[in-house]
Amino acid sequence: MTLPPLHALSNADLHCHSTASDGTLAPAALAERAAAAGVELWALTDHDELAGLAAAREAALDLGMAWLAGVEISVSFAGETVHMLGLGVDPRDDALAAGLAGVRSGRLERARQMAAGLAAAGHPGAFEGAMAYVGNPDLISRTHFARWLIERGVCDSMHDVFRRFLTEGKPGYVVHRWAGLGEAVRWVTGAGGQAVIAHPARYKFGPTAEYALFSEFQTHGGRGVEVVCGSHSHAEQVRYADTAIEFGLLASRGSDFHDPEESRTAFGALPDLPGKLSPVWLALAERVEQA
Ligand code: AMP
Ligand code: MN
Ligand code: MN
Ligand code: MN
Repeated sequence: MTLPPLHALSNADLHCHSTASDGTLAPAALAERAAAAGVELWALTDHDELAGLAAAREAALDLGMAWLAGVEISVSFAGETVHMLGLGVDPRDDALAAGLAGVRSGRLERARQMAAGLAAAGHPGAFEGAMAYVGNPDLISRTHFARWLIERGVCDSMHDVFRRFLTEGKPGYVVHRWAGLGEAVRWVTGAGGQAVIAHPARYKFGPTAEYALFSEFQTHGGRGVEVVCGSHSHAEQVRYADTAIEFGLLASRGSDFHDPEESRTAFGALPDLPGKLSPVWLALAERVEQA
């Protein structure tokens, strides 16, 4: 299969999760799904983890997709958790790998505290229950607890389980300190990639804190924002397209696919980026691999 040149390529899907973090499909199965959906340029972006990238890359190139290595880093900023994509990173970069290992290292203790909170709310056994869903023991996440609570019949949907148990102030929520914004940007840019603020509409910032997020992000060397993504409404896409113009940021597009049943958005099914925006992948031309 011959791909169009990068600038003509619109079906980029640069955000999804495998069993190396909180997705339910292995990297190669994800690649097959993305290719079958018509994705032309694909990135795997597991939470705080690079372990799925080698298998994903091999499958992507075999299937004729263009490929970018990626990661979604958990960051703490102004009392909120912010997710930052690192696109086009070199997975062999030592500082990136070490930084991510540090971010992952707090997850087990956090999970034990989450389980203690759930036990106190009448749901014992959550640690072992969530662990049964984990594909990577370094990467236990709230999603795995959510799957267990749904399996037990405590909740009937992901939305319900996060609302009742896993968000701030709820029994399974534990305040956690993730990476700093500046260090996360430096890990990504130091590894040759572009840093991108993921799904900006999901954060509970007021206008002042949101402005601070984007301006500090840029000061550290961040250059991108995810405008079109699985968790943005049309109005939110329009709003963050304006943010991209206002700050002069590159724009990204990604489904944030986790699982065929749970995910609202399928691979490759998102609207195109608004034409007035600069796609982040054009700034990563040297990092894109094609068979
Ligand atoms: P963690 O990194 O352990 O805090 O888990 C974060 C993950 O939980 C996100 O990447 C999503 O996959 C999932 N998540 C967070 N909030 C929600 C929500 N309201 N509904 C469904 N999934 C969510
Ligand atoms: Mn996730
Ligand atoms: Mn995210
Ligand atoms: Mn994600």
